[in-house]
Amino acid sequence: MTTDSGAVLPPGSVIGIMGGGQLGRMITLAAARLGYRCAVFCESETDPAAQVCNTVIAAPYGDPPALRRFAAIADVVTFEFENLPRDAATWLSEHTLVRPNVRCLEISQDRVLEKTFLNDLGVATAPWTEINDAAALDRAWDTIGSPAVFKTAQLGYDGKGQAMIRTREQLDEAWDGVDRVKAVVEGFIDFTCEVSVIVARAPNGQIQCYDVVENQHANHILDVTIAPARIARKTAKEAREIAVSMAEALDLTGLLAVEMFVTGDGKVLVNEIAPRPHNSGHWTLDACVTDQFEQMVRAVCGLPLGTPARLSNALMRNLIGDQASRWHDILRTPETKLHLYGKAETRPGRKMGHMTRLYPLADHWAPDSVDAALKHWN
Ligand code: AMP
Repeated sequence: MTTDSGAVLPPGSVIGIMGGGQLGRMITLAAARLGYRCAVFCESETDPAAQVCNTVIAAPYGDPPALRRFAAIADVVTFEFENLPRDAATWLSEHTLVRPNVRCLEISQDRVLEKTFLNDLGVATAPWTEINDAAALDRAWDTIGSPAVFKTAQLGYDGKGQAMIRTREQLDEAWDGVDRVKAVVEGFIDFTCEVSVIVARAPNGQIQCYDVVENQHANHILDVTIAPARIARKTAKEAREIAVSMAEALDLTGLLAVEMFVTGDGKVLVNEIAPRPHNSGHWTLDACVTDQFEQMVRAVCGLPLGTPARLSNALMRNLIGDQASRWHDILRTPETKLHLYGKAETRPGRKMGHMTRLYPLADHWAPDSVDAALKHWN
């Protein structure tokens, strides 16, 4: 594996991005503003990021000739999703500079590695246990009890591969339903809210951390992000400190998004991490001095990080499936910022775009103001 020498890549260099989705698209646009060029490795030439980059390599992610071409073009390789085949990521790290490092990817790909890493660091999670054989189901039922949440260890996102568990039989059904692959069972957390933090770290160890935001989901998909989160100052401080300690422990170069539950008694439990830009950071495009995509470009190119200072309060709403077909209505509200991802095909559950509204800067939202704003907002 090539070790990271802390190299600075000047504007004009080529950033290779594994993945062609909306995150890759927004990284590419930020890179262009700073004078970089991007090569996107993705599955189709019509992918959102492929539409806006300099070079597209459209091939399956493990394709050796395509990986060779990609490594030859890119001065640094980064990724916009974590479920990249591990062999491809490892091969790339042996042939070019990969930021963040492959360990960040491996840990975020596997809930067992992720939770072990978190707990070893002293970071609290929901109580959990690994499922790798039938006896482990009994152990899970005895130790975690009910209600619980069953999750596949790998390849789960937006609630996929998950099941709510209330009876011992449901545990069997859940494991059978995913063909008995490695999984975890975790205690159901009766949280007051879900929050996330995005932290950026440069190769020289410089760190910048965005404000903690609150996330509301619909059908297991992020619906609304509220910036800042409506939580106590002390809780926000703890959430940021957890994210920073994780970035340091991972020797991260790039961005780390950390999703957390906040309980009624103010406890912060980490749910999962992603070493890349995050949907819950899209509000930063319109409300921060340096948005998450520019910050990622700065980090992976070894540039000084920008300030993540928030210039206003913000609400971000995802446009899922045919919600994006209302683009004309949305634009008729002149205060709303619309972002569309250029996806040709609308499918239920597919993230097609998002919209952001800005509100006067404050540490706290006035009581009921968020609910009132969301009710009257498009
Ligand atoms: P995940 O794929 O782990 O991000 O889970 C998707 C969503 O399911 C989370 O954002 C929560 O809303 C919910 N969820 C996941 N794990 C738990 C848990 N242990 N307790 C309560 N809700 C959970």
